[in-house]
Amino acid sequence: YRAKRSGEPQMLYDPGMQSFREEHLSLLGDLQQAVERNELTLYYQPKVSLADGRADEAEALVRWIHPDKGFIPPGEFIPFAEQTGYIREVTRWVLAHAIAQAGQWVAADHPIKISVNLSTRDLLDPGLPDQVAALLAQHAMPAQYLCLEITESGLMEDPSRALDVLNRLRALGLSLAIDDYGTGYSSLAYIRRLPVTELKIDRAFVIELAHNDGDAQIVQSTIDLGHRLGLKVVAEGVEDQPTVAILARMGCDRIQGYVFGKPMPADAFVRWQQEHAASPA
Ligand code: C2E
Ligand code: MG
Ligand code: MG
Ligand code: MG
Repeated sequence: YRAKRSGEPQMLYDPGMQSFREEHLSLLGDLQQAVERNELTLYYQPKVSLADGRADEAEALVRWIHPDKGFIPPGEFIPFAEQTGYIREVTRWVLAHAIAQAGQWVAADHPIKISVNLSTRDLLDPGLPDQVAALLAQHAMPAQYLCLEITESGLMEDPSRALDVLNRLRALGLSLAIDDYGTGYSSLAYIRRLPVTELKIDRAFVIELAHNDGDAQIVQSTIDLGHRLGLKVVAEGVEDQPTVAILARMGCDRIQGYVFGKPMPADAFVRWQQEHAASPA
């Protein structure tokens, strides 16, 4: 009926499109089950401080362990969840589990500041700040140990509504990071007006840092300007020691990348952290 209403009857008869829709409908059903049955799980990737080598922060990254299809990375279902609107349920699941885990680490006197990714649609959800506040209270989790990562594109759809949600989140006392910085179109002049505390420089600028002078200039000036605006600067996707050394010289605050650790289950993260503390790179 939807195809008829929108004047695209061919969609009803296109066999390719039909199977595409069926596949997506079954994927959506699967995803709903995944959330209900806890087939989702969170992996944690260290964000290592360059000043003192501490790995007291981590990004939570969702994975789907599908009963038949096995391990499904977020790149294969997050965009789909965004298109169908189901992302709000996914985000709620991720927030609940990340905050519960962080609360456990705080209670164990071993606090780790956890970053959670938000999607565009989440920023348009006026109920989100109250949900986050309730989860923090439920798990006795101080807001200072939570960071929410947003992307520039997340702000573009309805900037004033997104800004309202961000201001209310920030007022809870948590941190806000701009993820994948540099891949969108927003200037630091625009970002300055947002209540953000951290910039994460996208991996695209980091991969060739050691060999590409243009990228080096961009990264250095982003770090400098970020600092002048009072932001912490994190480099994403760092895979080798020479790049760590360059970023350290440039004054970058933290590094997240395979060079220090891949995303891993919570218990493996704790073991990794103990080993890392024994011999920081
Ligand atoms: P992101 O937020 O930018 O996360 C960083 C991604 O880079 C992760 O991929 C991480 O595994 C990968 N990465 C980290 N270090 C390296 C490195 O040294 N080399 C390379 N090649 N890759 C590295 P992942 O876990 O597959 O996640 C992909 C994207 O999916 C994330 O990008 C984020 O946008 C989205 N995502 C992940 N979890 C969630 C979630 O819980 N909610 C939402 N809304 N999105 C999520
Ligand atoms: Mg992220
Ligand atoms: Mg990123
Ligand atoms: Mg991303």
